[in-house]
Amino acid sequence: MKAIDTESWIKQRIKRDQIDKYLNNGNDFIDDRELINLINKHKNPDVKQIEDIIAKSLAVNTLSLEEVACLLNVNDKSLLEKMKQACIKIKKKVYDNRIVTFAPLYLGNYCINDCLYCGFKKSNLQAKRRVLSSEEIKKEVKVLAGKIGHKRLIVVYGEHPNQDIDYMSESIKAIYSVEEKTKHGTGAIRRVNVNAPPLSIEELKKLKDVGIGTYQVFQETYHHDTYKIMHPASTIKGDYAWRLYCMHRAFEAGIDDVGLGVLFGLYDWRFEVMGLCAHNLELEKRFNIGAHTISFPRLEPAHNAPITINSKFKVTDSDFNKLIMVIRLSVPHTGMIITARETSLIREEAVELGITQTDASTKIGIGAYSENKGIQQDDCQQFILGDTRSLDELIRSLAEKGYITSFCTAGYRCGRTGECIMGLLKTGQEGKFCKLNAVLTFREWLDDFASEQTKLVAEPVIEKEFNEVKQTMPKVFAQFMDYYQRIRKGERDLYF
Ligand code: SAM
Ligand code: SF4
Repeated sequence: MKAIDTESWIKQRIKRDQIDKYLNNGNDFIDDRELINLINKHKNPDVKQIEDIIAKSLAVNTLSLEEVACLLNVNDKSLLEKMKQACIKIKKKVYDNRIVTFAPLYLGNYCINDCLYCGFKKSNLQAKRRVLSSEEIKKEVKVLAGKIGHKRLIVVYGEHPNQDIDYMSESIKAIYSVEEKTKHGTGAIRRVNVNAPPLSIEELKKLKDVGIGTYQVFQETYHHDTYKIMHPASTIKGDYAWRLYCMHRAFEAGIDDVGLGVLFGLYDWRFEVMGLCAHNLELEKRFNIGAHTISFPRLEPAHNAPITINSKFKVTDSDFNKLIMVIRLSVPHTGMIITARETSLIREEAVELGITQTDASTKIGIGAYSENKGIQQDDCQQFILGDTRSLDELIRSLAEKGYITSFCTAGYRCGRTGECIMGLLKTGQEGKFCKLNAVLTFREWLDDFASEQTKLVAEPVIEKEFNEVKQTMPKVFAQFMDYYQRIRKGERDLYF
């Protein structure tokens, strides 16, 4: 590992000019008082108002903050049921019965920040610290791509000079370089999404150059005062605006897909949903592209982080369902990610309400995939997992409910990203490409990695898709079946 002067590294991280240029009279775009006022103003939305808002969502339009505030205040059972049915319809219209899966890959747990809620915080002296070398990363990927069958990763970095932009670039190159023999071909990661600390425009250009998919940074809380409490001012993460504007910088650097998120449980969940929507609207207004994905982790117990147990803002399961519905209706075309922090039961309900991506076979200990460590290693992982099912088990349970697990990464590789994919999603066209590619990649995965039990459940789901493709896309049916048969014979990576 190279010698590092951590103090001087920290001092040069934040580029003030890359914040100031976006500010409006010195203020950022999250006006706490305005968001709270809107929630209070719409305390009693009437039925007609909510029905009109639902109709707007069903036409796949982003909602205004006033409209989001109305939805947050719905408590009437029959209106909540209408919202639920609308979510199910939107999911069907924009994403059909597809779910995308991925695995998180934690590359290191060194961190110079001290977030109150995180097991990686620097003041957690009991954490066993480690950062993976390129060779160790490749070993992890060989398991993920070669044995389990993942095609997408979200790679997670702490904020530390030993995980700087050069490390990030090299680690991503190492991941893409792995090609592991499978039954019929090679297992490889085709899309590397990144969850990293806020970076400068120059650094983000480097990430673009190594071919990242989505750049994901969670604001954690949009509430300024809570943010200050959770992130000590002496740390880099203590700078709210540096974090808030990292997606502006990402778009300027040419990255097409960005992922927003909130760590629910730090402050009132209604406010946080307003914050997320305000962030998305700001990006749509400035760059014509909103968030590619939204994540909504709930606070999980973490080692030496008492706030994770005693926060008064912890979100109940029923509020969690409600916030998922409000987000689904507010940004109908945006991908929504739920992770293995949640239990299988919660995840299954959430999928119905509009989730588009989820992880499986998840391990978040450093080196945990290749070193065959237990699933939960609480001295070197960030928090405790709620769902430890394997990818095979998850896919089987989704197939039992009629879902196709898509391993498609074609949209990204054909340039269907950013503004272009937003347009395709809003008009329902991306859904067509995706349906074809979802079936083809699902077939690949079943032939290469599935257990016999999972294959049995999945075959009828695929049969049903044939009929739908034949009816809805008759012009491409012959080519689709040709690709399908070639995949059955062992060809790989055929896509539309
Ligand atoms: N270090 C980077 C950062 O903070 O932006 C990225 C990696 S961090 C390991 C990924 C995310 O994990 C954080 O943004 C936070 O939302 C989430 N997280 C941290 N502690 C958590 C906890 N106790 N329960 C659930 N999620 C947590
Ligand atoms: Fe570090 Fe991120 Fe954990 Fe904060 S959330 S302590 S920045 S790893």
